[in-house]
Formats: sequence, structure tokens, C-alpha cells
Amino acid sequence: MRLILLGPPGAGKGTQALRLVAKYGLVQLSTGDMLRAAVKAGTPIGRKVKDIMEHGGLCPDDSVVSIVAERIEQPDARKGFILDGFPRTVPQAAALDRMLKERGIALDAVIELRVDEGALLRRIENRIAEMKARGEPLRSDDNAEVLRQRLEAYRQLTAPLVAYYRKKNVLRTVNGMAPIPEVTAAIDKALPAEPSAPKPKPKPARNGARKVTAKPRKPKSAGRLGKKSAKRTSSARKTAAAHKSPGRKSKSGETARP
Ligand code: AMP
Repeated sequence: MRLILLGPPGAGKGTQALRLVAKYGLVQLSTGDMLRAAVKAGTPIGRKVKDIMEHGGLCPDDSVVSIVAERIEQPDARKGFILDGFPRTVPQAAALDRMLKERGIALDAVIELRVDEGALLRRIENRIAEMKARGEPLRSDDNAEVLRQRLEAYRQLTAPLVAYYRKKNVLRTVNGMAPIPEVTAAIDKALPAEPSAPKPKPKPARNGARKVTAKPRKPKSAGRLGKKSAKRTSSARKTAAAHKSPGRKSKSGETARP
């Protein structure tokens, strides 16, 4: 199963991702975590994004896309994954579409956690105050000003993804303001009963072989065409049959993956 969790910072994406990981054995791919690790390790990408992250801006699309492309190649992601915090812009979503298409895989659902922004700010401010009171370390971007910046970035750059995925018919919207177990239950209900199976990659045409894309024409009667033309029509049909995708199974024969 391949999912995207979409929602502003503080909507509960991380919390719900953890529950989905435990329930479906998926891996959580959080671009925020990956970028923080890159900053900590001082990699070239990490050095490039450090300041941006501290100020609540969005990191450049190419940096984030390259991190995700590398990560979904790892063996643990083959069984399925939850993208948490990615994509965050329309160009990132388009890059993800290309990545998935190249691998013959599809998204099963995009879960939008819809929240009230005012309540969200209060929720996050409370969480920060509680963490401070417990003496827990805060993230460098965990403060009200940066949070406002992050919400603004969400509104301007990420919110258009709701329409993007609605158009693709994969968007499922859940009330993110409900108590955590209720949100979990609503997500479970919104998930497809059968996750999509990866499609076999089309075989590349052999050198010199003609690609047959058009439907073979309905043969006209030999009487009207003459013997020679009838022979050509029948050999075209054979060529078309030989190019039919060999590995594609019928819908009923598809095996669902976990
Ligand atoms: P998060 O942990 O998802 O809230 O992300 C923390 C920060 O990492 C964000 O405020 C951005 O600066 C950066 N970030 C995470 N994911 C992305 C992304 N997909 N595109 C751009 N920047 C990102």
C-alpha cells in the first residue's frame, strides 16, 4: 500500500503515520526527518537547507525529490510506504507521479487531515509549552513565529495539492480535529479494501521491431480486398497479437500486496 498524508504542520500526520506503520507494516517516509538527518550529518543537501528549515520555509524541490527518490528504492520501501510531509508543492507531486510511473506503482490514497488553523496554533503552542515544562528538547523550528511561517507556506504551496489529488480521484478527507483514535478509525475506513498491485513494466521493443499501437483494423472481406491485401491484413493482426503485453494479468487474477 502506498499512501500520502497531507495536512498542515501539527495536523497529526506523524502520529497517524506511526499507527499506520504498526497496523499495515508500511514504512514511514518523513521528508522532515530525512532533511533533519541531512542537516545533522552536514551533507551537501543538509548545509543547503539548514537555514531554510530554521525559518519555516520550504526546501528546494530538487533536493527533496532526490532524497525521496533514493529512499523509495530501499528494500524496506518495496512493500509499501506512507509519505509524511511529501509532496509539499505541485512540482514535487508531478515528480512523484513520474517516480511511481517509472516503477510501475500507483498511489492507493492521499489522506487529507483537515484542521482548523486557529485551533492548530493553540494546539501547537500548548504542545511547545508542555514540552518546555517537562524539560524536553525542542526542534529549532518549534516556536510560534516559525509555525506561522510554516502555515503560510502550507497555504500557498501545499494546499493546491488537495485539488491536484482530488482530480486524480485518490483524495480522501478526514476530520483531523477529532480525537486521535477517531481520526485513525476514519483513515482506516477511507483506505481502499485492496491495495493496488504493481504493474509489470512494459517490455522494450526489440531492435527494428515495429511498435503496434493502433487497434488492428477489422478485416474486410477477401472478396473486396483481393487475395494479396487479405494476406497482409491477416499478418498485421498476427503482429499485433504478438505485441500484446504478455505479463499483464486480468483484474480478477491480480494478487493484492499487503
Ligand atoms: P516536517 O517535519 O514535515 O514538519 O518538516 C520540517 C521542515 O522540513 C519543513 O518546515 C521544511 O522546511 C522542510 N521540509 C520537509 N518536507 C519538505 C518538502 N516536502 N518540501 C520542502 N521542504 C520540506
